[in-house]
Amino acid sequence: MQITHKFRLYPNRQQEEKLFETLNLCRQTYNNLLAEFDSWDNISKYELQSIIPNLKICNPILKKVYSKTLQYENHRLFSNLKALSKRKKKGYKVGRLRFKGKGWFKTFTYNQSGFKIIQTGKRFQILHLSKIGDIPVRCHRSIKGKIKQVAVKHMQSGKWFASVTEERKQEIKQQPINKIIGIDLGLTNTVYDSDDNKITNPRHMKKKAKKLAHLQRRMSKKKKRSSNRNRWRIRLARQYEKLVNSREDFLHKLSRYYVNNYDAIAMEDIPISRMVHNHKLSKSILDSCWGKIRQYISYKAEWAGKLYIPVDYKGTTQRCSQCGKLVPKELWEREHKCSNCCFTAPRDYNSALEIKRLCL
Ligand SMILES: [Zn+2]
Repeated sequence: MQITHKFRLYPNRQQEEKLFETLNLCRQTYNNLLAEFDSWDNISKYELQSIIPNLKICNPILKKVYSKTLQYENHRLFSNLKALSKRKKKGYKVGRLRFKGKGWFKTFTYNQSGFKIIQTGKRFQILHLSKIGDIPVRCHRSIKGKIKQVAVKHMQSGKWFASVTEERKQEIKQQPINKIIGIDLGLTNTVYDSDDNKITNPRHMKKKAKKLAHLQRRMSKKKKRSSNRNRWRIRLARQYEKLVNSREDFLHKLSRYYVNNYDAIAMEDIPISRMVHNHKLSKSILDSCWGKIRQYISYKAEWAGKLYIPVDYKGTTQRCSQCGKLVPKELWEREHKCSNCCFTAPRDYNSALEIKRLCL
């Protein structure tokens, strides 16, 4: 199985210049390949890749970038194309792939080779990147398997990170199923489970979201393209990062709790398109908890040899979990009262029980 860790990089000034230069050259290559792709009726991934050496002849500065890192841009282009046609097949309106402007390119990738993590035994380890150099890195997790890929990412806040993907060989032993739980995901970021536990977004996350919204309003009043606005932009990006980090922390702890304490976990299988979309940045980060809980629980369960069971979401809020009778309710009705068997419970608790019943 593959695990990806995100480690912070601490480049010095010269290294940072090289990182920026690599980003920029990768962006140029991506754009050149896209232009080339557009000028052909039909060109394969392999054929397009063979153009890269010609690009290097025309533009020798490209030799400053590790060759496989440039090749990866061809791979990136084709996976973007694939994603686009997938969306098209699903019936979305899609345009063409766009050229990447300066602010829109933030990652370059070393795949299979050209990198090495050197253990120093001190607080900082060294990430060696071919053609760039030895960058101090904080590895807060140990790497046990073979490293497959290193993606270097520049954040809006100005920080640099390396996403290190390792391949771990590990036998997964299927666990016997004794404890089963159903989980209902509510509209207001609440999780309700069939053991009558209710969990909401922690207060400190809401606080951070509020601060983010405040910064966003303040920044919008600053003059465009002024250095003052740029300072606010960085401040905003840092706050954004803080919120995302505490959300991830919360979600990992929550999903870990369920995977450690239960053998089978049932959740509604709601398609992403049915989820609420919120245009406010701070709100949308809180809302995106929804899909991520399922994602984290399902992969953690798989690694632990436990079961994640998606159940059909239709009717789970309307059906009585005790007798199966339909009890229609409006969105604002928070109480479930069955006229058939007299079962009364909070609406989300009844849903969680129904989800559990469905998976049995
Ligand atoms: Zn009933």
